[in-house]
Amino acid sequence: GLAGRLQETFNKLRGKGKVTEEDVNQTMREVRLALLEADVNFKVVKDFISRVKERAVGQEVLKSLTPGQQVIKVVNEELTKLMGGTQSKLTFAPKPPTIIMMVGLQGAGKTTHTGKLAKYLLKQNKQPLLVAADIYRPAAIKQLQVLGEQLQVPVYSMGDKVSPVEIAKNAIQYAKEQHRDVVIIDTAGRLHIDEALMDELNQIRGEVHPHEIMLVVDAMTGQDAVNVAQTFNERLQLTGVILTKLDGDTRGGAAISVKAVTGCPIKFVGMGEKLDSLEPFYPDRMASRILGMGDVLTLIEKAQATVDEEKARELEKKIQKAEFTFEDFLYQLEQLKKMGPLDELLGMIPGMNKIKGMKDLKVDDKQLSHVEAIIRSMTKEEKAHPEIINASRRKRIAMGSGTSIQEVNRLLKQFEDMRKMMKQFSSMAKKGKKKKGFK
Ligand code: GDP
Ligand code: MG
Repeated sequence: GLAGRLQETFNKLRGKGKVTEEDVNQTMREVRLALLEADVNFKVVKDFISRVKERAVGQEVLKSLTPGQQVIKVVNEELTKLMGGTQSKLTFAPKPPTIIMMVGLQGAGKTTHTGKLAKYLLKQNKQPLLVAADIYRPAAIKQLQVLGEQLQVPVYSMGDKVSPVEIAKNAIQYAKEQHRDVVIIDTAGRLHIDEALMDELNQIRGEVHPHEIMLVVDAMTGQDAVNVAQTFNERLQLTGVILTKLDGDTRGGAAISVKAVTGCPIKFVGMGEKLDSLEPFYPDRMASRILGMGDVLTLIEKAQATVDEEKARELEKKIQKAEFTFEDFLYQLEQLKKMGPLDELLGMIPGMNKIKGMKDLKVDDKQLSHVEAIIRSMTKEEKAHPEIINASRRKRIAMGSGTSIQEVNRLLKQFEDMRKMMKQFSSMAKKGKKKKGFK
């Protein structure tokens, strides 16, 4: 797949000390093929490659990154930019109700995502009203009513004998009377784009003036999704796109091209049939996902910004001499905390997402704060010489930190094990150096 292929290319670059123009060219050939294979629009790919080349070749090498990482950084940044840069949020009307119109082809997921969006809005303390304006598809009204019942959100319908324009208009009136602050109109779709469909949608649009016209489009249809987006945008001036069915084996190429081709941002992605499988779309996360390398660059940047280099070198020396103390440990914990929640950090490490069960792993930040409290309850002498911490000191530390003696014991044991390991490492390293020295 795309991720694997790019990974391979980047691995080749990673070990290098210096990147030549030829290196960049070769990498970009691979990137281009990978993107095309993933169904990304040809013209989009071409522009993208030339932008990356221009930036990657001309740039001076940052001290903190290897040239290989730098090319990756540029690819990642440009991909993010291509998908809109930052997250595009829903527009709310200054004076409620906010009107959201869902449009798209049949089977794309309009009705499902009307429900998902309602659930998402409920969590933000909004009071949505769902409107059944698909009078053509058999049981379409019923489908929306079932979703409304599940969510305990009212569904406005007038059966299938009244025109969708009329239904939409009356629904807005009803929303105002009932103080519903967001109206989501579920419209009909066809199997293919046709004039009758576009006319009807345009009439609804002219009648209710939606704040959001959301195209719901199936990611599994690849390049077709982009064509559909382009046509709908020309006719209706979309304000946002919901890319659905990204949960399957979709190659995700549509995500890259939609914004570039239509100028219209993806606002949400659908990740499953269930009502809570709706996620806001984050261009940077998607870029990383496509590149299959976690947020490795963010990690590099964060690490660079927070860890004082001088201090880091000092720590390294201490570790080598096995003089590492609780004071040093505390310092490291603080650095780690500055970098963000631990499980988020772990997620940024390349390959972590491939490890089974990794997704469900939650690092307990609470446990970490206990560790911190314990260390802070030690005296200066205890931090520097943990071996003096006897039973009565342990009891005092546990009391002072609001933890238990067991927790204090555990930490002391772990710390001792860590120091032993450091000793072993450093003696191994010394031996290694000596051997080399004889040659
Ligand atoms: P509509 O014709 O545009 O209203 O489409 P529907 O909302 O009726 O959805 C069509 C089918 O796609 C249904 O079987 C949904 O369960 C399914 N579906 C919708 N969204 C998603 C999604 O994000 N992922 C998956 N796997 N299926 C989805
Ligand atoms: Mg429907």
